[in-house]
Amino acid sequence: MSVRVVARIRPLLKQELEKDTIVEAAPNVSEPLATPSIVRIPNPKNEAEAFSFQFNSVYDQLATQQQVFDNEIAPTVKHLFKGFDVTIFAYGVTGTGKTHTMRGGKLLAERGVIPRLLSSIYRRSRKIEKDTEGDTKVDVAMSYYEIYNDRVFDLFESLEKRTPAGLPIRDNNGKTVVVGLTERPCTSLKDFETLYDQANVNRSTSATKLNAHSSRSHAVLCVKVTQVTGNEVRVSTASAIDLAGSEDNRRTDNGKERMVESASINKSLFVLAQCVEAISKKQNRIPYRESKMTRILSLGQNNGLTVMILNLAPVRSYHLDTLSSLNFANRTKKIEVNEVENRPFFRTAPKPESKSGIPSVPLANRQPLRPKALS
Ligand code: ADP
Ligand code: MG
Repeated sequence: MSVRVVARIRPLLKQELEKDTIVEAAPNVSEPLATPSIVRIPNPKNEAEAFSFQFNSVYDQLATQQQVFDNEIAPTVKHLFKGFDVTIFAYGVTGTGKTHTMRGGKLLAERGVIPRLLSSIYRRSRKIEKDTEGDTKVDVAMSYYEIYNDRVFDLFESLEKRTPAGLPIRDNNGKTVVVGLTERPCTSLKDFETLYDQANVNRSTSATKLNAHSSRSHAVLCVKVTQVTGNEVRVSTASAIDLAGSEDNRRTDNGKERMVESASINKSLFVLAQCVEAISKKQNRIPYRESKMTRILSLGQNNGLTVMILNLAPVRSYHLDTLSSLNFANRTKKIEVNEVENRPFFRTAPKPESKSGIPSVPLANRQPLRPKALS
């Protein structure tokens, strides 16, 4: 099993000011021309210092949905059809772009990882069926559920039908299965989108505290690909997970309900981070059994690929939460401290007059950063 951890910094929102930008993507100093792989953020206790965190790659506010998909997710589709499972997580504080990254907007250019993944799966299925002159048949089916307070709820089921205890999970030949989960065949992208939208509506209208609820549950979409050639059947699953917000809920609300929620969110995200760390270090023991989410996803158990996208907001109001996200996602990596003369300015969106397609960077505004090499 292999894992990639990539960071994505979202653009400023309308109400956010450029002067409050504190998070920056930077290339590794040893490869100044390579794509950025470092996230730099000031030390909140001493802003003359900056912390650097290294990832497999870092996408800044100019990165498009297509770039993120093409670079990080498209390469996994080939493995999926070879029979490997693929798992994609969006991790981050509420409001940092997890849903935007995973689901995205309605416009073609704004579509997120999930619709692009499905589109790619269908394209490949058609090609395989054509290339084998129909000897191989590919079926696609989906299930979609949320994990809330460590309980599993089917998103194809309306709220009224939910049992408070959620669906039971059971071990089945070493694999954990959710008992009674709806699985819907979907033969085309259009099919998929209808079902997906329907289930999402179910999710958001179901909660009385709309956003409060959705940011406290993990939404797990599983796409099962079955390839049948004669007697040979090959099944693999792509899972795309929009995780609960990683902010520390205890800091903002001490209500009893929130305490229960945040305890189970923190536990599952903590176990997830441990699994990601263990997989990336190629350790033999991966603690996936320690939370329901990692258990259901069999994270670490089978041969597969995992991509974790760490979503980040660029602004000061998220400073401490961003730092804890970065630490959490990157506990294995060494963190370096760089001295900077002043609070740096950062890249902005391209100005309309930039005809070259190369974003205009207000270099004059930028304070020199003097990073030390990361070992
Ligand atoms: P989360 O799911 O992590 O709570 P959202 O995906 O809802 O966050 O994003 C918060 C806001 O930021 C939304 O208004 C979303 O449209 C916007 N946003 C996030 N990422 C981007 C991006 N890469 N480009 C443009 N807008 C974005
Ligand atoms: Mg969201």
